[in-house]
Formats: sequence, C-alpha cells, structure tokens
Amino acid sequence: MDFSVDPEFQAKLEWMNTFVRQEVEVLDLLFPHGGAQFDVHNEKSRAMLRPLQDKVREQGLWACHLTPELGGKGYGQLKLALMNEIIGRASWAPVVFGCAAPDTGNAEILAMFGTDEQKERYLQPLLDGEIVSTYAMTEPQAGADPKEFTCKAWREGDEWVIEGEKWYASNARFASFLIVMAITEPDAAPHERLSMFIVPIETPGIEIIRNVAGMNDTEEDAIHAYLRFDQVRVPLDAMLGGSGQGFKVAQARLGGGRIHHAMRVVGQCQRALEMMLERAVSRRTQGRQLGDHQFVKGMIADSAIELEEYRLLVLKAAWTIDTQPHGAARMLIGMAKVAMAKVYHDIVQRAVHLHGALGTTHETPLAKMWMGVPMLAVADGPTEVHKVQVANALLKTAAPAPGLFPTEHIPTKRTAALHKHDAALGLSD
Ligand SMILES: Cc1cc2nc3c(=O)[nH]c(=O)nc-3n(C[C@H](O)[C@H](O)[C@H](O)COP(=O)(O)OP(=O)(O)OC[C@H]3O[C@@H](n4cnc5c(N)ncnc54)[C@H](O)[C@@H]3O)c2cc1C
Repeated sequence: MDFSVDPEFQAKLEWMNTFVRQEVEVLDLLFPHGGAQFDVHNEKSRAMLRPLQDKVREQGLWACHLTPELGGKGYGQLKLALMNEIIGRASWAPVVFGCAAPDTGNAEILAMFGTDEQKERYLQPLLDGEIVSTYAMTEPQAGADPKEFTCKAWREGDEWVIEGEKWYASNARFASFLIVMAITEPDAAPHERLSMFIVPIETPGIEIIRNVAGMNDTEEDAIHAYLRFDQVRVPLDAMLGGSGQGFKVAQARLGGGRIHHAMRVVGQCQRALEMMLERAVSRRTQGRQLGDHQFVKGMIADSAIELEEYRLLVLKAAWTIDTQPHGAARMLIGMAKVAMAKVYHDIVQRAVHLHGALGTTHETPLAKMWMGVPMLAVADGPTEVHKVQVANALLKTAAPAPGLFPTEHIPTKRTAALHKHDAALGLSD
C-alpha cells in the first residue's frame, strides 16, 4: 500500500493550503453569516469571491469533483479527499473551489439524468458558479424514510402540478431553481412512487413559509427553508429522470454528498487538533504547561489517533470509489458517515473544553464546528439508518452455525483436529 502523494499534486495541495489559510479564511471573518457564501446578490462578497475563484481556475483546481466532460480535472475521489481536507477548513472554501453542496449533488444528477435542454439551462450556469440551487426532498413529517413522504404531483394537460410541503431545503432563498421530489405513481411499489422535478424558484405557487436557523444561529443565518407548493405548475419536461425514478436519482447524489462532507470534516478536525496543540503549549496551570498534564496528553493522543483512523477510512472509501465497480464503496461510505459524527463530536468537544471559558464562546472557530456536530449526524441520513445498513450488508454475508455450537467452538474444533491428526499423535490403533 502506497500512502505517498505524487510530487506534482503535492505542490498543488501546498498551494491550496497557503491559499485557504491566507486568502479564503478572510471571507469567513468578513462574511460570517450562515449561507453568506451562497448569496449571489451580495455584490461586496461577490467582488471579493470572483478573483479568488479565478486564481483557483488558473491553478486548474476549479470544480475538481467533476469529470473532464463536465469541465473538471477528473482527479477522482482520492485526490479530491486530500483537497477537501484543506477546503474543509473554511466555510467559504467550497464555493471558492466550485465544489459546494448541495450544488455538487444537484449538478451530478443533472449531468446523469438531465436532458440536453435541462443541462444547458441549469447545469452549465451551476458549474460556472453563476447560480445556486436547492434540493427539496425532506418533508416536515418525514425525513429519513422517503416512503413517508406525501408531497405529490399529477398531470393536467401539458403540465405537472405539484402540491405539498418540503422542510429544511438548504439555500432556497438564494437558489435559482429547486430539485423537488414528489409522488407521481401512488399505486406503484414504495420505491417506485416518487419522481424528481426541476422547478424555477419564481414559479407561481412556491411559498417560503419561513427560513429556519440552526440552534443558536440568528435570523440572518437562517438558510434552511420550510416550503409550501400550492398547485405549482411546471411543463412536462421539468421532470428529471423518468417517472417513478426519484429514489434512483436521489441515491445517485447522496453517496457523493456524504463522502464529500466526510472529507471536509477531516479538515475541520485537523483544525480543532491544531488549536488544541497550540493551547496546550500556550497556557499554564499548577506550575506547568497544560500539555504537561497527563489528562491533556490523553486528550491530544486520543484525538490524533481517532482522527488518523477516521481519515484512513475516508481515504479507503475514496480509493474504492475510484478503483472498484460502482456500488463497491457503499458500506465504506456508510461507515465513514457514522464515524464522522462521532469523531467530529469527540475532537471538537475536547478542543472546546481545553479552551476553557473561551472555548464556549463565539470567539473561536470551534463554536461553528460544535454547531455542526448534531447537523452532520442527521443530514444525509441519521447515524442509526447508516448503522443499520452497514449491519444489514454484513449480516447478508453470514451463514448460520452448522450445528448446536458456533463454528469457532473450541472443543468441537479440537475433536476434529484430533481426528485429523490421530496417526501423528499416536491415537489410532
Ligand atoms: C444541516 C442540514 C441540512 C439539510 N439540508 C437538506 C436539504 O438541502 N434538502 C433536504 O431535502 N433535506 C435536508 N436536510 C434534512 C435531512 O435530510 C433530514 O434531516 C434527515 O434525512 C433526517 O430526517 P428528519 O430530520 O425528518 O429526521 P427523522 O427521519 O424524523 O429522524 C429523527 C431521528 O429518528 C431516529 N431514526 C430515524 N430513522 C431511524 C431508523 N431507521 N432506525 C432507528 N432510528 C431512526 C434517529 O435518531 C433520527 O435522528 C438537512 C438537514 C440538516 C441537519
């Protein structure tokens, strides 16, 4: 197993590292509100953003999640993982590098399932970073289980009519269009009932009931929309993919979204660990540096070990996506999604704690990370759902024990071994 990075790409990573720390983190400080990076109408922030995006393009690092046909470098997920660790440090960095969720996932499904007209109208401006988009799947009464969704669409003449509610649709207030999941085949099997629609935000009948803010965020940070669709009419060609293919389309975007979040969380945890280390050698108590106390050493060592384990899991998932047949990485992505929530929680909690009262304030980046902990455990499917899927996949590979005792039962195995070697042991007549 070769853990080295080729020197040319290593140089790119080093450029990125300096660029993100010196030029991109500034945007986090100047435009800190949730979703500010998606506000295409804020001329001040756009004026600062565009030159940075140009520098990224000059380096050939724009939208690196994309294949060459879509204007990306085709680096693959493993290189993307290393890039995303650096991008994960700053809230603005994904937009600066043209790889921010949910636009990445929306672009993927438009590329995979869109018609030529849909691609021209929605995909190209999205890839160019000119517009942003929203993915509206979750409903107020149901999230993790799409079989509980009720938002529906029916045909009337040359149109589909959409009726229902969606919840926690990120960035809707900045979006040019929404990708909406609705029931079109109510009598089909549960996984074949839903379809996807591309709906321009200005379509009559769309109401943003309210924009919801994360816990402890202000109204200005509220970017997750509670939406109502009151007989929203779209043309027949607004459907993305076939009728009843909504699950298939959703699955195509969720795997990528999960692993890209997981990659960026590596970067967040690295930042929290760096902060922990600096604190440990800067602060004294009981006549010693914090880092000279065994408890603190334990916190640092546990964090570094857990981060390394998690990082290797993410890199293996990325490598598997790049090198193995489609679907082979599914369980690893689920594992990484579960591990992400735990590692992020544990490392950020220790970093907050080591910073004492300061750690509990809004005056360090740890506050935003801590807020992200419960979000990442729920977004793109709660931990429990992924654990169940991991366990189910493993259980499918298992067979029942052939007899009363397990296959590994030592007395049974010993008896078999004695029979096999009875001559050598002098037990046979
Ligand atoms: C930051 C953030 C951004 C988001 N952005 C979007 C977006 O852009 N578009 C969109 O459509 N949605 C978005 N969501 C919604 C997200 O997809 C849902 O929150 C998620 O699918 C869970 O749905 P829910 O909130 O309805 O929770 P529920 O489905 O009600 O689950 C609540 C809890 O029940 C338990 N549970 C659920 N299922 C099981 C199970 N099978 N076994 C055991 N326990 C279970 C878990 O503890 C779970 O946390 C976002 C969420 C967050 C936090």
